[in-house]
Amino acid sequence: MTQTANIDHAEIKKFEDLASRWWDKHGEFKALHEMNPLRLNFINTGSPLEGKKVCDIGCGGGILSESLSRCGARVTGTDMGKAPLTVARLHAMESDLDIDYQQITAEELARQKPAEFDVLSCMEMLEHVPDPASIINACFTLLKPGGSVYFSTINRNPKSYLLAIVGAEYVMRMLPQGTHDYAKFIKPSELDAWARSAGLELVNLKGVVYNPFTGLFSQSQDVDVNYMVHYRRPENVSD
Ligand code: SAH
Repeated sequence: MTQTANIDHAEIKKFEDLASRWWDKHGEFKALHEMNPLRLNFINTGSPLEGKKVCDIGCGGGILSESLSRCGARVTGTDMGKAPLTVARLHAMESDLDIDYQQITAEELARQKPAEFDVLSCMEMLEHVPDPASIINACFTLLKPGGSVYFSTINRNPKSYLLAIVGAEYVMRMLPQGTHDYAKFIKPSELDAWARSAGLELVNLKGVVYNPFTGLFSQSQDVDVNYMVHYRRPENVSD
């Protein structure tokens, strides 16, 4: 397993290998498709997207990027996987959407384009990187003062192990086995500590709960397993 910069190449490879399946709503990325309306609503409610300059970090094949674009945002999508980006570009053409997809790290984009974006999304990605705090710092830099960033990831506790790994990968087979590594799951308190030290302030934290009987995800106060969180870069930052 090699690692350069803030990239785990074994993680990127998992997504490269599955890229052709990205837009199959019944395939390996089914859960991302099913969660998508919920997270889009969370973002569009917190930051109405029409006319906003948005970057979707770790965009994969572009499920969320396309939805953000359909809401009227000007969207950049970034990922370090080449094959997912190829899929994303082709799919955007078919969907007749103008999305700027780039193979670049969040850290490098932050060096090139500080204070560029009104809104950032970074969904189901922090649990796949070696140093999530570094991504969160880059998000602060990328945001205009007053801008918002939305993260989603998976909590770390016995219940999340049981539901997100044993349940989702082995029992329900919603995700390929090996998709997630328990040790990389992130507690909301850990994410909050990184976000605060980056200079971000918490706006909203919501749980995302899966009902195995209906097959539906819904928003909840229960943040034990999946959760999404909205942070803001304060308007007046002292130098
Ligand atoms: N955010 C998308 C895709 C989630 S899958 C969605 O929720 O629909 C996780 C994605 O993170 C994969 O596409 C993977 O290639 C990407 N990724 C993993 N590590 C990364 C890194 N260091 N920089 C950029 N993207 C990364």
